[in-house]
Amino acid sequence: MRLITCRYQQHNYLGIVSGDCATLPALNRDVPSEFEDMLSLIEGGASALIELRHFMESAPEHTVVTLNEIDWLAPIPRPRKNVMCLGWNYVDHVEESAQAFKRTLKLPEYPVVFTKSVTSVNGPYSEFHFDTKVSTQIDWEVELGVVIGTRGRNIKVEKALDYVFGYTVINDISARDLQSRHRQFFVGKSLDGSCPMGPCIVTRDEIPDPQRLELFCRVNGELKQYSNTRHQIFNVATTISILSQGMTLEPGDVIATGTPSGVGFARTPPEYLRSGDVVECEVERIGIIRNRIIED
Ligand code: MG
Repeated sequence: MRLITCRYQQHNYLGIVSGDCATLPALNRDVPSEFEDMLSLIEGGASALIELRHFMESAPEHTVVTLNEIDWLAPIPRPRKNVMCLGWNYVDHVEESAQAFKRTLKLPEYPVVFTKSVTSVNGPYSEFHFDTKVSTQIDWEVELGVVIGTRGRNIKVEKALDYVFGYTVINDISARDLQSRHRQFFVGKSLDGSCPMGPCIVTRDEIPDPQRLELFCRVNGELKQYSNTRHQIFNVATTISILSQGMTLEPGDVIATGTPSGVGFARTPPEYLRSGDVVECEVERIGIIRNRIIED
């Protein structure tokens, strides 16, 4: 299933996309509370998903709207925790970073993890507004996003993908000047709206192997990043297992699994986003998010 969160007639809805239409179950009065929003559905576990599939088999006509009647929001507009992110998780991106900083190349032995604030989450087609008094080095990073479905701690690698609810696309927009000035990444990664996400969450049954997905980033139509998740240093299962050692992962937690090479700061000369630029991030089998950059 391709699950979305959208705005329709002044209300937020959980939706299921199929072709040019979305079914919004909560337009029906008699639906379980799990169908009202994405986090409730995820927390409802396997039984809520089964019930939703059952509902979809004979969804009443009045619950179906066309996609041009809705406004798209991030699939989880406000996660309960910061988005957990991997840095330097593709060999070619580690290489380009080492070159840009004139450091010797060293692959991480353990995942490099930082977080993005919940207020950074942004819609899949929303604008990203920034203030040049705050940052003049806004950069792009296409990433595969993983949404946790089942609570777990000390999760074994072999079982880790069973804890996944689904997959999404994330642009880990980064303010490079803030990122380096503050040493820790948090500030440079958490500007308002700097985590566009979506357009949907594809449930994990539709992506049995998350390590075979092409990913692309285009700026104003020009290809900047192109790779495949098979080049990740720490794959999704390993990442989940490692993050869960002594730290409980919960339904609705979001993990951004790192970006491949081709980011702006590592280019010669460096390239940063300007007002009016349009950034498209795409992951195979999930979709494209498209965000216009606006300087306030
Ligand atoms: Mg990143």
